[in-house]
Amino acid sequence: MSAAVRGLVAALLADAGDGDWPTGVPHRLDALLAAMPARTRHGFRAAAAAVDAYAAARTGRRLDRLGPGERERVLAGLAARPALLPLLDVVKVPVLLAAGTERLLAQPPRAAAPPAPQDPPLDCVPAGEWPDRSRADAVVVGSGAGGAMAARTLARAGLRVVVLEEGRRHTTAEFGRRAPLDRFAELYRDGGATVALGNPPMVVPTGRAVGGTTVVNSGTCYRTPDRVLARWREEYGLGDLADPVAFGAYLDEVERTLRVARQPQDVLGRNGALALLGAGGLGWRAAPLRRNAPGCRGSCQCVVGCPSGAKQSVQLSVLPQACAAGARIVTGAHVRRVLTEPDRPGGPRACGVAVRRPDGSELEILSPLVVVAAGALRTPPLLRRSGLGGHPRTGRNLAVHPATSVAGRFAEPVADGGPAVLQSVGVEELHEDGILVEATAPPPGMGSFVLPGVGRELRAELEDSGRLATFGAMIADRPGGRVLGREGGLLRYDLDPRDGRRLLRAVRAMGDLLFAAGAEEVLTGVPAAPRARTPREFTAALEGVTARQLHLSAFHPTGTVALGADPEVAPADPAGRLRGVHGVLIADASALPSCPEVNPQLSIMALALAVGEGAVRAAG
Ligand SMILES: Cc1cc2nc3c(=O)[nH]c(=O)nc-3n(C[C@H](O)[C@H](O)[C@H](O)COP(=O)(O)OP(=O)(O)OC[C@H]3O[C@@H](n4cnc5c(N)ncnc54)[C@H](O)[C@@H]3O)c2cc1C
Ligand code: SF4
Repeated sequence: MSAAVRGLVAALLADAGDGDWPTGVPHRLDALLAAMPARTRHGFRAAAAAVDAYAAARTGRRLDRLGPGERERVLAGLAARPALLPLLDVVKVPVLLAAGTERLLAQPPRAAAPPAPQDPPLDCVPAGEWPDRSRADAVVVGSGAGGAMAARTLARAGLRVVVLEEGRRHTTAEFGRRAPLDRFAELYRDGGATVALGNPPMVVPTGRAVGGTTVVNSGTCYRTPDRVLARWREEYGLGDLADPVAFGAYLDEVERTLRVARQPQDVLGRNGALALLGAGGLGWRAAPLRRNAPGCRGSCQCVVGCPSGAKQSVQLSVLPQACAAGARIVTGAHVRRVLTEPDRPGGPRACGVAVRRPDGSELEILSPLVVVAAGALRTPPLLRRSGLGGHPRTGRNLAVHPATSVAGRFAEPVADGGPAVLQSVGVEELHEDGILVEATAPPPGMGSFVLPGVGRELRAELEDSGRLATFGAMIADRPGGRVLGREGGLLRYDLDPRDGRRLLRAVRAMGDLLFAAGAEEVLTGVPAAPRARTPREFTAALEGVTARQLHLSAFHPTGTVALGADPEVAPADPAGRLRGVHGVLIADASALPSCPEVNPQLSIMALALAVGEGAVRAAG
């Protein structure tokens, strides 16, 4: 760890070197940065070096050579310059992640959790143990929401199915043993630091594990709204697929598989209770969310793997059923290319996949059917690497369902040590206008909410974060993004002006909810105007603020290999068949033609089920 980073952490967290919890933060931060892509790591270090250089210019000494008071004055000087605030934010986000974990570990342990249940069996084989040459009736690339459902459908129809997953298998017992941040760095691709470049830049985290992003999702289950299905029929020509009755039957089947039910009130936690209280006060529609977590104990760790096995992510639900029907899962298997026979009569045809093992060696699986379900950010690069990305809309049409958060401070503890569901209550009052608010309380530092201040102010915020309630809002967006390149990880997303206005309206709505629930103070999330003690102050704080000043993240990328009837517009046809080649199906979030306006896992799985069943029917 460089002196610049050490000095920066000490300055941000007002570490007086007295052995209190901030002392462990640099070490924790180092481990986190190691899991991130080189460009993010370098970006962080460059920002830290810039802050250090600013300190040297102001005081003649570097940050780690200054006393606590001087360090704080330097950062306060930086924070007072609006043009330099983004620099400060770049360094604050990972420091807060590491700090949240160190603080958590320094607290007295909660009552011991009951032992983790045994996970249902999976037929997983590490790529190193899989033969160099093999055959299957179908290979499925990616074991997340879409891939799992496609694999189960094909295996149940009697096909020999092999699922290829780049990540490894994680068990519920492991989740119970390891600290949240250690799990975070491994379960997320790029250590959770996948960023869409644009104005403003946006973090777009996705999972990499057996079970894909469902391992780290919040378990919220919304059915695809009828108005979205109507749009898919009318604008994208998905007449049969998006028929409300037919698609409704697929959604029913997915809900049965995931054991979806409304979350009982007794484990919601205060964050959720305050959302209900605020909505009640305003007369707004709100209710506990429907989730796939029967027996949820409210341990509030969904985004780093459920330690009680309650959340029915697909490695605990759909994939065991696929394996029971004969599917096999190869782990640590990075699919490099879909193999094709270009000169077949009737046009090019898929004939298998080439896979890279972790040691760099390759294996091949020959198969007449390849289902691509690598997620909306990784499916387009794989198609390009395979010479199948020629359609001009491949990788375009990226919608992300942008999200932002607001926090409110209450007189009594919100995180009171009792059970609490991470994402607990949905406020649907503005949903028809494209705004969905959900009470969301992730583990410390892991939210998209960035605490205000530097030095003692930030430290005090962290120490007092138990009195904060956090709400998040997602807005239905126009698909303004692109996945670039052949290797993945290069994204561009520009917020449409209409969506910027929606985000600001969502921020105002969350402030109204928090004040209506009795918040003493609302933290806006806007660095230039971070606090408001009354609704009037809140309105004033947002005056002149644009969406570009908000902290945005996005958890629901979709649409990059969209299904549609018009061959000019959609790279895949309404049955999920990739155009221009036989034998390749798209069955993940890429296939959704537009933002589903809700948390998307049910929509993705229902669509993958429909695509899989269509392929089985077509094969007779
Ligand atoms: C923090 C968070 C919370 C969320 N909460 C919710 C929620 O509460 N409710 C909800 O509905 N949705 C939620 N989501 C979104 C939801 O989980 C995803 O939309 C969904 O899992 C996407 O499904 P998918 O099949 O497209 O891709 P994924 O589930 O991401 O699966 C893709 C898999 O493919 C693998 N892969 C990629 N490239 C390759 C390759 N070349 N070779 C082999 N394998 C490869 C990846 O490792 C990954 O495991 C959340 C997402 C996040 C990040
Ligand atoms: S709140 Fe805790 S117990 Fe409930 S599903 Fe999430 S991680 Fe599992």
